[in-house]
Amino acid sequence: MADELIAVKPEIAARARIDAAKREAMVAAEARDPDAFWRTEMNRIAWMTAPTKIKAVDFTGDVSIKWFEDGVLNASVSCLDRHLATRGDQVAIIWEGDDPNTDAKVTYRELHARVCQLANAMRRLGISKGDRVCIYLPMIVEAAVAMLACARVGAIHSIVFGGFSPDSLASRIQDSDCAMLITADEGRRGGRKVPLKANADEALLSCPSIRSVIVAKNTGGAVDMMAGRDHWWDAITAGEGTTCEPEPMNAEDPLFILYTSGSTGKPKGVLHTTGGYMVWASFTHENVFDYRDGEIYWCTADVGWVTGHTYIVYGPLANGATTLMFEGVPSWPDNGRFWQVCAKHKVNIFYTAPTAIRALMRDGEAPVKKHDRSSIRILGSVGEPINPEAWLWYYRVVGDSRCPIVDTWWQTETGGILISPLPGAVAQKPGSATLPLPGVKPAIVDSEGKILEGATEGNLVLLDSWPGQMRTIYGDHARFGQTYFSTFPGMYFTGDGARRDADGYYWITGRVDDVINVAGHRMGTAEVESALVAHPAVAEAAVVGMPHDIKGQGIYAYVTLKAGIDPTEVLRKELVAWVRKEIGPIATPDAIQWAPGLPKTRSGKIMRRILRKIAANETEGLGDTSTLADPGVVQELIENKVG
Ligand code: ATP
Ligand code: MG
Repeated sequence: MADELIAVKPEIAARARIDAAKREAMVAAEARDPDAFWRTEMNRIAWMTAPTKIKAVDFTGDVSIKWFEDGVLNASVSCLDRHLATRGDQVAIIWEGDDPNTDAKVTYRELHARVCQLANAMRRLGISKGDRVCIYLPMIVEAAVAMLACARVGAIHSIVFGGFSPDSLASRIQDSDCAMLITADEGRRGGRKVPLKANADEALLSCPSIRSVIVAKNTGGAVDMMAGRDHWWDAITAGEGTTCEPEPMNAEDPLFILYTSGSTGKPKGVLHTTGGYMVWASFTHENVFDYRDGEIYWCTADVGWVTGHTYIVYGPLANGATTLMFEGVPSWPDNGRFWQVCAKHKVNIFYTAPTAIRALMRDGEAPVKKHDRSSIRILGSVGEPINPEAWLWYYRVVGDSRCPIVDTWWQTETGGILISPLPGAVAQKPGSATLPLPGVKPAIVDSEGKILEGATEGNLVLLDSWPGQMRTIYGDHARFGQTYFSTFPGMYFTGDGARRDADGYYWITGRVDDVINVAGHRMGTAEVESALVAHPAVAEAAVVGMPHDIKGQGIYAYVTLKAGIDPTEVLRKELVAWVRKEIGPIATPDAIQWAPGLPKTRSGKIMRRILRKIAANETEGLGDTSTLADPGVVQELIENKVG
């Protein structure tokens, strides 16, 4: 099942920007002369002073990563100003509200004007180059405007997802000493209101670095405004001009800080700089999604995650695309919402996460089939390994077996996609992120750091830098070296495990910390979970190791059943037998617990470290749970632990 090969259809290859031959030529050109390759690619963004130096990277010692280091630019110019002459009246952002009766369109000219007005207001409030500005907004156009206004004045934005609590917001503001907060009165999600300004007020009690707060009026809900500190967005921008001098930024000046989603521990303040990040955002958005002028492109992520940064705002806008921003959730007002929005706005490229696909699969095909999806050309996945079962459902049901799926592996740290099919060039295998993009040098190493060749399995590392790589952990360069470059000296360690098959395809097996060792056999969580999800009764599964007297570790599986299916002893035995048959006796689950819900990060990733503790009866110190979407799920699982 998992090794099914889905060839590139000739009609897709014929129209694609990059076909197999072109991809090979790119890979060869980059390998022959990387500086020449990136010297050409860097021209996809606008420079005030073009760089003469391309790359200066040292993964050893103190670790130093620089790209285009003598170039000068402003990211907002690439996203806005340079499009005005050619596509000023083209829609830059389609906004689709939580309420299906609300939407809005913003042209490049309007977006430029709004960014300039806010940037002018920010300067007037004393914000200048290098200041940190926290953005705590819902998925409204103002979020993109705020990001680009920060970039305009050279301020470093740090976006905190609007679903986070006052405590999580406060700790992120404190970590990077933000001078300003941009928020809204309230957000909307799934028909409910989120009290953003009230949360912010609570957080700011412990954030003395914040000098001013700009508040967008979104729902019109009542909020407290502190005189001298808080300003309404509309009032403070009203008198401002619609042009604004962009701050000249060195390529290596920071563009943003973003905290990781925290699936493995305390979030890290990942810092990205301007030049390399923008080149990578544009390069990957255009090539991985085969983006063509005039297309409607929709990434369903929130701007609070890196996916929203690179593939809702910076990548698409740098490429002059029309990008869709969605305020709502896939299940409201009903679970056909994604497809209804695709039909309404004639979406051509659709990019979402496995967690959403698995959730929608639970409700069957009808909600999908109800809506016209004929405009969709390319489908994308990001965030977790996509189980082959979910991949095939996405392919057959959503894409009518017409649309290539790009399963994009990357991290907050990598700035953009590193391993992914190019839709016109690389045959797909359900569940595999396939091959590295040109310029990306993955390798698989054993626990000693020895590079393994051919078909193999182990730790996924990157042997060399790419322009979009993170440069440091904000305020803690030592932790940067320690976290990513000390496990395997001289290599960037991703923290992920991977398998490479005989065709050179990469299969992400899960976090290395999550690897299960059963009687000396190492097993990735993804494989066992995918076997469970392949059973017709199972919607979602999470697998962890548990202490076992004889085997060292046993397999403990949390299983969520599809809607309407009863958890019975018979089914439990059937699932155990099913996994034995799918993978082999070594993978036989020792315990299966029915899980109505799984603990996930706010970005929808399963938090296995918590599940591991529950399985081991170590429920005292669950560690940092601040990024959990629904803490109630954890208690339920503790109470119903098996064995
Ligand atoms: P933290 O680093 O704080 O634990 P996190 O790793 O969840 O949080 P992100 O940077 O959002 O934060 O997630 C990156 C991780 O997501 C990758 O390291 C990988 O484990 C997983 N991932 C992302 N895309 C894919 C994919 N297409 N296939 C498999 N895994 C993926
Ligand atoms: Mg991570």
